Amino acid sequence: RQAAFQALREQPSRTRDGTDISLMLNAGLAIDLDSMAKTGADGIGLFRTEFQFLVSDTLPRIDAQIALYRSVLDFAGSKPVHFRTLDLGGDKLLPNASADLEENPALGWRSIRFALDRPGLFRRQLRALVRAADGGPLSVMFPMVTIAEEFFEAKALLMDEIEWSRARGHPEPSELRVGAMLEAPAFAYGLDDVAGEVDFISVGTNDLLQFFNAADRMVPSVAERYDVVSRPVMRFLEFIRNECERLDIPVSVCGEVASRPVEALCLIGLGYRKLSMPAAGIGPVKRMLRSVDLSAFEPRFREALHASNGTFRNEVLALTALQEI
Ligand code: PEP
Ligand code: MG
Repeated sequence: RQAAFQALREQPSRTRDGTDISLMLNAGLAIDLDSMAKTGADGIGLFRTEFQFLVSDTLPRIDAQIALYRSVLDFAGSKPVHFRTLDLGGDKLLPNASADLEENPALGWRSIRFALDRPGLFRRQLRALVRAADGGPLSVMFPMVTIAEEFFEAKALLMDEIEWSRARGHPEPSELRVGAMLEAPAFAYGLDDVAGEVDFISVGTNDLLQFFNAADRMVPSVAERYDVVSRPVMRFLEFIRNECERLDIPVSVCGEVASRPVEALCLIGLGYRKLSMPAAGIGPVKRMLRSVDLSAFEPRFREALHASNGTFRNEVLALTALQEI
């Protein structure tokens, strides 16, 4: 099976009836980069920069940050890399974090909230990203944006850092893309506020669905509540995709669900065309895509999604079985 996936590496990720789907990699450490060549991914859709902080006892110095980001960009060559800025807190605590333990860390002082409250740390990272780009393209996204102000504040810091570097003789990125992760359900209803300012939205379903389903992603006993192939979840993801289309914002999905063939097919049925996933998902998802007749699947999937009877999950499983995935 592994060999069969390897053989797919050079094949386009295109449905049987000709729709191209971009498959990208979720990565976080230098060792993940090997997977890019092995899988033939179209780029890195999510680079989790906090991993470098989590594996070290001390905060990585700016030189170490620049070196890591540069190696990622060098490795990717002409393929795009989307750096996600520090996403600490929640399930990703620093080894020496002395922060008071919160009752609900997923809902607490984490992610972009933490970064904006630690501007020294955050700015150093943004500076490292600008320096690593070294006059080439740079794509940055901010995690768990809940309200537009967080995005604007973070983007302003990034612009300040570009100016700071420029004033010191370092080149500006040749092309800058600034995105936001949609992981907090409220932000799905706040996209109007960032339209025109945000270059892309990346839907982080791991967090988004734990909030949407009120089921902690870290608690196995509620894993069932985490069902993605459910009408409420799919209608919500459809709403997000339609909002992005209405507002002309490019959108992708980077949560783990994108790596599971049935779920990935549902996302494509909703109109998503860019998926980013762990390396192990790329082969199976590509194999699924290449066997699928999207023009047959999509209308029936949407009909099931908007019907008011029947069990959605069974209908979807029956439809995906027809596609022999
Ligand atoms: C997500 O929440 O879906 C996501 C991609 O980010 P992480 O899993 O790192 O929280
Ligand atoms: Mg997340």
